[in-house]
Amino acid sequence: MDTAEYRRRGKEMVDFVADYLENIEQRRVYPDVEPGYLRPMIPSEAPLEPESYEDVLRDVDRVIMPGIAHWRSPHFHAYYPAGSSVPSLLAEMLSEALGCIGFTWAASPACTELEIVMLDWLGKMLQLPEDFLAGTGGQGGGVIQGTACEATLMALLAARSKKVKCVQEADPLRSAADIFSKLIAYTSEEAHSSVERAALIDGVVMKMVPTDDNFSVRAETLEKMVAEDKAAGFIPFFFCATLGTTSCCSFDKIDELGPLCNAENIWMHIDAAYAGSSFICPEFRPLLNGVEFADSFNFNPHKLLLVNFDCSAMWVKRRVDLTGAFNMDPEYLKHENQSSGLVTDFRHWGIPLGRRFRSLKLWFVLRMYGLSGLQAHIRKHVELAKVFESLVRDDKRFEICAEVILGLVCFRLKGSDELNEALLKEITRMGKIHLVACKLRGRFVLRFAICARSIELRHVQEAWQHITELSCQLLLKHH
Ligand SMILES: *Cc1c(COP(=O)(O)O)cnc(C)c1O
Repeated sequence: MDTAEYRRRGKEMVDFVADYLENIEQRRVYPDVEPGYLRPMIPSEAPLEPESYEDVLRDVDRVIMPGIAHWRSPHFHAYYPAGSSVPSLLAEMLSEALGCIGFTWAASPACTELEIVMLDWLGKMLQLPEDFLAGTGGQGGGVIQGTACEATLMALLAARSKKVKCVQEADPLRSAADIFSKLIAYTSEEAHSSVERAALIDGVVMKMVPTDDNFSVRAETLEKMVAEDKAAGFIPFFFCATLGTTSCCSFDKIDELGPLCNAENIWMHIDAAYAGSSFICPEFRPLLNGVEFADSFNFNPHKLLLVNFDCSAMWVKRRVDLTGAFNMDPEYLKHENQSSGLVTDFRHWGIPLGRRFRSLKLWFVLRMYGLSGLQAHIRKHVELAKVFESLVRDDKRFEICAEVILGLVCFRLKGSDELNEALLKEITRMGKIHLVACKLRGRFVLRFAICARSIELRHVQEAWQHITELSCQLLLKHH
């Protein structure tokens, strides 16, 4: 394929995508395939001779589409939204075409410089404290990580490295291995599984903090655990707070947890992967109060902010905490501007060396929607969740299981877990809408998340009608 053919095929592909998005509602949202369905449909080895583009494209329809869960469909209500918009799609196209791998400033200056400024734009939209912004002379700053999981892991690694150094400064004879074995991290029992996994990867102990009736971690609970652990000779060093938990979108009380962490020299990281986008609306910004006590903060524009995966925005108050933790300087990555203090080399801010030009899609989306357009998107999203909530509340056979704050409704049929499991199974089998479940206080609960950018009131109403019809049939069977 040369560029002449690319011009033609590229335009066709854009049409293909536009057709897909325009007609996505007509598709069965969740595929009806068994594990292993794909292997028999294609050859067992790569072709020796080149094949035609037409053949490849034909197989997209034959092989791929039947196994796709349509995340962009307005019938998709599982997990949390995967952001997408036309400006983001276009920016991705450009980013892939430029293909620069921005590990150092020198590797492609625009790639690094736009990222720094975009994270400042975004930080200002969220009204993050000045400390987190890079500005022109600040100590803080933001970086795009691939996912929230990576951000949590980076925060944990940096916190650990900092704590080991700090303890050794006070007690130079103590070995790193000894300190390491005494470290304890904390997070909510409702935190995303990736937080516990970060501790597993890092090989440190992480304790789960019980939550209150609203599924929020409170300072007094953490305070007690920290005091007990310290008395037993352990070294508390890290607490990961969640704003908008994955199971039920609950919020830890960071305004009371922050001062505790600061007083105890515990690094507070905030995982606001889903909920973070909502803080650009003044009415939701109070949920972020207390961020001034945090050492690092992260949210995913690739969830609710119309930016395509992957784009996870992370800020730290002191960027040396990240850059100083794991510094490597091989000859081939050195460049003449690095020691001037004027440039940022993002390779020191995360795990991978290579990084894509992801800030382009932020730039396109922030400019073409504007703050007001993005706020409108978030408000609509939350309003539709409130509509669904009131539909559930009006039906005495159902109950709401957690306060509805943003675009997620946790609900269940009053009755056994088996009944609710049967309902979800039936929903999945029908393939008209797609939901997943969670466990809250040991009970099986259905999650209805507002996901697609194109979702309208009628989709929510139709989804509820479908759920109640399936429930009627089930309840008849169970009596
Ligand atoms: C979605 C989510 C994650 C995981 O996000 P990735 O970017 O896929 O790693 C982590 N934490 C919370 C609270 C989430 O909602």
